[in-house]
Amino acid sequence: MVMTETLSPPLPARERPWAQTVRTSRTIWDIAHAIGGGPFHVINPASFAENLEQMIGALAAEGVAGTVYYGKKANKAAAWLRECARPGAGVDVASVPELVHALGNGVRGEAIGVTGSAKPDGLIWLALRHRCLIAVDAADELERVLDLASELGEKAEILLRVRPPAAPDSRFGFAPEALKAAVRRCAEPGAPVVLQGFSFHLDGYDPVPRAELAVQLIALCLDARALGHPAAKISIGGGIAVSYVEAEDWARFESGREDGWFHAGKNPARTYPYHQSPTGAAMVTAILRHQVGGRSLADRLRETEVELLLEPGRALVDGAGFSVFPVLGCKPSDEHLITTVAGLSMSLSEQWKGSEFLPDPILIRRTDGVAEPVRTAVGGSSCMEYDVLTWRTIQLPARPMPGDLLLYPNTAGYQMDKNESGFHQLPLPPKVVLDGDRWHVDTDYPIQEIR
Ligand SMILES: *Cc1c(COP(=O)(O)O)cnc(C)c1O
Repeated sequence: MVMTETLSPPLPARERPWAQTVRTSRTIWDIAHAIGGGPFHVINPASFAENLEQMIGALAAEGVAGTVYYGKKANKAAAWLRECARPGAGVDVASVPELVHALGNGVRGEAIGVTGSAKPDGLIWLALRHRCLIAVDAADELERVLDLASELGEKAEILLRVRPPAAPDSRFGFAPEALKAAVRRCAEPGAPVVLQGFSFHLDGYDPVPRAELAVQLIALCLDARALGHPAAKISIGGGIAVSYVEAEDWARFESGREDGWFHAGKNPARTYPYHQSPTGAAMVTAILRHQVGGRSLADRLRETEVELLLEPGRALVDGAGFSVFPVLGCKPSDEHLITTVAGLSMSLSEQWKGSEFLPDPILIRRTDGVAEPVRTAVGGSSCMEYDVLTWRTIQLPARPMPGDLLLYPNTAGYQMDKNESGFHQLPLPPKVVLDGDRWHVDTDYPIQEIR
């Protein structure tokens, strides 16, 4: 390919103080030596707890009753679950192992939401036994929930998931007519079910459509109450936004983006919006304050005594982890270098959808020496041409040397383990949990050490 290579502007990651402290101290080398040469992740449950408290606080500040369920699929570590065993918090799961993991770490069934379409009987059975809140996705699934509940002599606690009117092609949720029929079905005498309310999950990160659809769900609750259902909860799903880089850096990057910035011209068609506003708890506040017909969502929730449930995944682990790949080698390629690291691009999760994790990785050098800036792409240690962590040629302050570490910041939300793979029989990278000035390896499954 004939192409002019140019240097992209930098995209320095926003970092929390704990991450800076760890990567610039002996701790990072102590961990690297203990792990013994492979890639690893470092996670900080205290940052998760901070994010969670802020989100619970955002509900309280608007006088709205509610629960923040951690969307567990964003990161598999057990360490987060302990933080969810507190008032106002819960966990959102979509499989038997996820449910067992939450229970095993002290999250009670009543604080667990079960989502996902066409849930297997085993998952419904376990959810019923533990009185979890089940988001039912379709009419046939509702029948299975009712059958299993009557077999067990339980009453199913459910939400009905609504297919968003703005996403008529979505494969999730009830279409309007089917929804009405399901509400009537739940009101049939003897149906072993408590209709607690309605739910949705939207793509994108805009507060406005969430507030607007939430108002429609409140109306559904009022209609359902007329049939005798309690209908006092609505879940607005996840998709709470995160910013990885500063506004100016992202704007400059996006406005100039060109193929010449990327090895082999691999300029991804779409990426996560790495800067957004509002984010985290501030986005929850924006949703609650959004006015529909002259009243804020918060006003309407209070007036109708409807609780607001949230299922953020990525936003709760924001700033709570990073990933480290030891450098194996470095060689020239046209006008830039290719650095190869121990580990796979599947530990960074964007490449499988033809995208790229864009915040700049940070070089941690083993020895001080002459430092001349270089430009490099970053490849993984498999035999695949496409196993590339970073196609963008990034500038590093020195040529990476074997034994140096390359740190990718803020990877806890989906990057770390969503698509991790044991390709080449490589072990999955361990997660090292920080606990004050000590650390241990997360067991992932089944439970964290009981203290
Ligand atoms: C994936 C998912 C979430 C979490 O989404 P984030 O973007 O990580 O906040 C919440 N609820 C449902 C139903 C989901 O599928």
